Amino acid sequence: MIIAANLKTNLTRAETGVYVEELESYMKAHDISQEVLVFPATSSLNEHNGEVIIGAQNAYPTNSGAFTGEIGLDHLNEFSIKTILIGHSERRHILGETQVELVKKFNFYKEQGFKIVYCVGEPLEKREAGKTQMMEYIGAQYEGIDTAYENLIIAYEPVWAIGTGLTPTLEDIQAIHTDLKEKSHAPLLYGGSVKVNNAKEVLELQNVDGILVGSAALYAEHFCSMIQFAQDI
Ligand code: PEP
Repeated sequence: MIIAANLKTNLTRAETGVYVEELESYMKAHDISQEVLVFPATSSLNEHNGEVIIGAQNAYPTNSGAFTGEIGLDHLNEFSIKTILIGHSERRHILGETQVELVKKFNFYKEQGFKIVYCVGEPLEKREAGKTQMMEYIGAQYEGIDTAYENLIIAYEPVWAIGTGLTPTLEDIQAIHTDLKEKSHAPLLYGGSVKVNNAKEVLELQNVDGILVGSAALYAEHFCSMIQFAQDI
């Protein structure tokens, strides 16, 4: 299974270093064979040799250039980073990234052979509009994306469940994952208010290949418990 932590705009580089080392020691001590990904804030990226895979939360589709405030491939290469998160709802809705921009980013990092965690998910009004509209909305987020890319991981994250403590029912998660698996055979993670108290039941669902965790992953101890659940399934 794939257990991923999105640290968002939290943990400094020093704190991230301690965090990742805590995960490494846990994984070593408990013989963890799951794929563990951590996405630190951009300024917390660093070279890392170990089992934990470090990925970027964002980067511009360029080697380098005049894109103020962005980083490019050269900056990721400096730290041997070959994994990137694309399409997170906070980038779509707060930073205003469009599907066209996301596709450019996807294609650029795909060309570089990156492992790409590509996020999809609907806002509350689309969910409340009924299944057809909701699936159409999510379907549009697949447009232009090579769903057969070998290093693709998809994360289904309902926008209304991110950081809110709300989650779809387990039946809903399973049903949507089953539908989404028809669009791509890539591993499919669930994300949105996964915590220690619900991670196990989510991980046990059919067509759930892992989880993407935000707030609850900030505590290494909690994140390690979730890694352990995945290991024990
Ligand atoms: C996320 O940001 O990807 C996420 C799932 O956040 P949270 O776990 O806090 O809902």
